Amino acid sequence: MATGRTTVTEAAVREALGKVRDEEHGGDLVGLGMISGLTLRDGHVLFSIEVDPQRGPALEPLRQAAEKAVAAIPGVLSVTAVLTAHRGSGPAAAPAAAAPGAPPRPAAPGGAQSRKLPIAGIGSIIAVASGKGGVGKSTTAVNLALGLAANGLKVGLLDADIYGPSMPRMTGITGKPSSPDGKSLDPKENYGLKVMSIGFLIDEETPMIWRGPMVQSALSQMLRDVNWGQLDVLVVDMPPGTGDAQLTMAQQVPLAGAVIVSTPQDIALLDARKGLNMFRKVDVPVLGIIENMSYFCCPNCGHRSDIFGHGGARAEAEKLGCDFLGEIPLDIAIRETSDSGQPIVVSAPDSPYAEAYRGIAARVWEKIRSGAGPAAPRIVIE
Ligand code: ADP
Repeated sequence: MATGRTTVTEAAVREALGKVRDEEHGGDLVGLGMISGLTLRDGHVLFSIEVDPQRGPALEPLRQAAEKAVAAIPGVLSVTAVLTAHRGSGPAAAPAAAAPGAPPRPAAPGGAQSRKLPIAGIGSIIAVASGKGGVGKSTTAVNLALGLAANGLKVGLLDADIYGPSMPRMTGITGKPSSPDGKSLDPKENYGLKVMSIGFLIDEETPMIWRGPMVQSALSQMLRDVNWGQLDVLVVDMPPGTGDAQLTMAQQVPLAGAVIVSTPQDIALLDARKGLNMFRKVDVPVLGIIENMSYFCCPNCGHRSDIFGHGGARAEAEKLGCDFLGEIPLDIAIRETSDSGQPIVVSAPDSPYAEAYRGIAARVWEKIRSGAGPAAPRIVIE
C-alpha cells in the first residue's frame, strides 16, 4: 500500500474505481453508478459498492479489485469497500463482505438507508428535526435522549446543529473533549448521556460560516471519529430547516428514523410539513410529530390556555399519515431547566413534563425496535 503525505482526493479515488470493471454489466464501477458513501479521512478511504443482492457472494473478487485499485493511489493508508444491496431490493451487504467491526444489524429495515455505512457499536440513530428554528427542537432532543436513558437504554446525543450548537449549554457540559490517540475524540458525558457537539470545539460566540463540503466532513467526523462505544441509540439534534445542509445530513447519516418537532402555529406546521417531506425524499422513516409549546398552564391558578391553537400537530400528523408522538406544554420550568443545563427529565423526574418526555421516548423506541429487529432490548413504562 502506498504511503506518504500526499492528500488523497475524491477525484483520484473515483478515477481509480473508474478503471475497475464489472464484466457482467459491461462497464466500470463509477460509470455504472455503483459507488456510494465515499468517505475520505486522512488517507483512510471508505465506500460501498451497490450490487444486486443475488450477486452478493459472487462479487467478493470485484470488491477486492476495487480495494486494490484505491490502495494503489499515493497517500492512501487504508481502504474499506463494502458490498451493499440495491435500494429496495432486499437485505444489505453480503456477510462475506461486511466491514470489520460493523454492527450485527443494519441501522434501518431497508430502502436507501441500507446503502449507508452503519456505525460500529451504534444500534440505531434517530434525528430530531424541525422545519424552522426556535420551536424547541434542541430542548426536545435533550429531554428525549434523557427519556430514552431513563428507560434503561445506552444513549448518545450528537449536536449536529452546527449553526447554533446548544448542547454544551443544555447538558451543562463545559471543556474540550479529549483525544487519547490524537485521531479520535472521546465524547463528553453528563446525566448518563454521551454527548458530542461542535460547540465543545469552538467558542459558542464565534460565528460560523459553513460551506457544503465542510458541513459534510464536520458531521461525518462527529459521527465516525468519536469513540461512542456501545450505544442502543444515538439522538441527533439536526440544524433547523430543510435546506441543502439538512438534506445532505439526512442523506449521509444511517438514520433509523426522524422525529419532527413543531409548535401548533399554522406557519410552523407548514414548515413541519417541509421537514417531513425532506425525510421522505431520502427514504428516512418519519417516526412521528411532537407538538412542543402545545398549551400553557398558568403557574398561579393552573388555568390551561391553548395560546397557539393547541392540537394542530395532531390533526396535521393525521392528515399527513404519520404518527403523533405527544405534546409538551409551554412552561417556564422547561425553559429554565434546559437553558441552565439541567433538563427537566433529570432535574424534576417526577414532574408531569418529565413523564411526558419519557412517554414520547418510549413510543419512539417502540417504533425503532419494531423496525430494527429483535436485538434491541425492550423497555417497560409504568
Ligand atoms: P430550537 O432548537 O428549535 O431552536 P430550543 O430548544 O433552543 O429551540 O428552544 C428555544 C427556546 O425555547 C429555549 O429558550 C428553550 O428553553 C425554550 N423552550 C423550548 N421548549 C419549551 C417549552 N416547552 N416550554 C418553555 N420553553 C421552551
